[in-house]
Amino acid sequence: MYDLLVIGAGIAGAVTARKLAEEAGKKVLVIEKRQHIGGNCYDEADEYGILIHNYGPHIFHTGMEEVYSYLSRFTDWYHFGHEVVAKVGEKLIPVPFNLHTLHLVFDEEKAERLERKLVETYGEGSRVPIMKLRESEDADIREIADYVYENIFLKYTMKQWGQTPEEISPEVTGRVPVLISYDNRYFQDKYQGVPKDGFTPMFERMLDHENIEVRTGTDCRELLTFKEDAVYFEGERFDGQVVYTGALDELFDCRFGRLPYRSLDFHFEHYDEEAYQGRSVVNYTVSEDFTRITEFKFLTGQQHTNGTTIVKEYSFAYTGAKGEIPYYAILNDENQALYEKYKALAAQIKNFHLLGRLAEYKYYNIDAMTKKAMELAEQLK
Ligand code: FAD
Ligand code: UDP
Repeated sequence: MYDLLVIGAGIAGAVTARKLAEEAGKKVLVIEKRQHIGGNCYDEADEYGILIHNYGPHIFHTGMEEVYSYLSRFTDWYHFGHEVVAKVGEKLIPVPFNLHTLHLVFDEEKAERLERKLVETYGEGSRVPIMKLRESEDADIREIADYVYENIFLKYTMKQWGQTPEEISPEVTGRVPVLISYDNRYFQDKYQGVPKDGFTPMFERMLDHENIEVRTGTDCRELLTFKEDAVYFEGERFDGQVVYTGALDELFDCRFGRLPYRSLDFHFEHYDEEAYQGRSVVNYTVSEDFTRITEFKFLTGQQHTNGTTIVKEYSFAYTGAKGEIPYYAILNDENQALYEKYKALAAQIKNFHLLGRLAEYKYYNIDAMTKKAMELAEQLK
C-alpha cells in the first residue's frame, strides 16, 4: 500500500516525503507522534491571536540557493537581518560580539586601539571562535577575550548546558564567533527571515500531495516492529524504504542506556502592552535563570495585535520523563560512542535510514537539515 514510511513530520521528514512523493511517485505514509506537523518549527496563534513558536524561536537562514529555492515553492518570506542583543548590566550589547560591541564596552581610545589590533591580527571580516581568541598571548586580545568570555559565554553556557565553555564541544560556542566587522546580524547568511504566514502553513503545503498520507498523534512504535534485519509494519514485513527522524535510543528501548540531551522549558507570558522589550531576542548572559527572552511580534512581523507575547527559555537535563522533549544532543566522545552502538543496530536493517537532528544525534539548522533531506531523497529515488 505504501512505498515509503517516514517517521516524523519535522523539516527532515517533510522534505523527504514531498520529494519522493512528487519526483518519484512514491506512496508515502508520514507517521508523527505529536498532534501536529512541523516538528520543532511548528508555530500557531496563541489564545490572544499572537503567532508564537511553540518550541522556541526559529529563524530560517541560509546561503544555499537550492535550499532557499526549494522551500520558497511552499512559502513567501518575511525577510529581515536577525539581530540579537545581550543584557549586560544596564546595557544591551550586540551578539555576536563585533566591532560595534567593542566600542560600546570599552572607552573610545581603547576601543580604537583594540579594533586596530583585531583587524591586524585576524583580518577584517573574519570570524574568531571565543575559545581561539582566548588562546592569544597578546595582552590586548586577551583582555577582549576575557570580557567576551565572562560577559557573553560563561553564564549563558552554564545555563544552557550545565557545563562551562571549556567542557562543551568547541563546535557549539564556535557557532557564535567574535566578528571582526560592524555587522550586527546574528547570522551572516544571504537569506534570513521567517515564512510570511508562519512555518506551519509551509509544512501544510509541503505535505499536501496526493501521494502523501499523514498520521499525527501516532508513535511509530505502535505500528512498526523490528526483527533482526527487517521492519514489520502493522505485523507484516515491509520491504519499502523507511526514513526515521526520531531519537535512536528510544527506538531500541534504550537498551544500551539513554543518549544524553538537554531539554527546554518554555514559559510564555502575555502582556497587555504594545511591546515588552521592543525587539525579537534578548540573551541574558550574566543574570537570570533563563537564557533568553523572545518577543514574537518582533520576530514574525505580525501587525495589528492586541498586546504582546514573550517566551523565556529554561534549559535542563533531559530525563526521558513523559512530556519532556530532547532538544539538543550533547556532543562529546562518550555520547558519540553510545550513539554508534545504536547506529550499528539500525544499520543491520538495509531499508532503514536515519535522518535528522534526533536520529543522527547531531546539531542541524533548518537549512542544513533541508539539504540533507534533499540528498537522501535523491539517493532513494
Ligand atoms: P524535529 O523538528 O525534532 O522533528 C522530528 C519529528 O519526529 C518530531 O515532530 C517528533 O515528534 C517526531 N518523532 C520523534 N519520534 C517519533 C516516533 N517514535 N514516532 C513518530 N514521530 C516521532 N534552526 C534554524 O535554522 N534556525 C533557528 O533559529 C533555530 N532555532 C532553534 C531553536 C530551538 C530552541 C531548537 C531546539 C532548535 C532550533 N533550530 C533552529 C533547529 C531546528 O529546530 C532543527 O533544524 C529542525 O527542527 C530539525 O528538524 P528534524 O526534522 O530533524 O527534527
Ligand atoms: N552562547 C553564549 N552566549 C550567547 C549566545 C550563545 O554563551 O549569548 C553559546 C552557548 O553555549 C550556546 C552556543 O553559544 O549554546 C551556540 O549558540 P546558538 O545561538 O547557536 O545556540 P542555539 O540556541 O541556536 O542552539
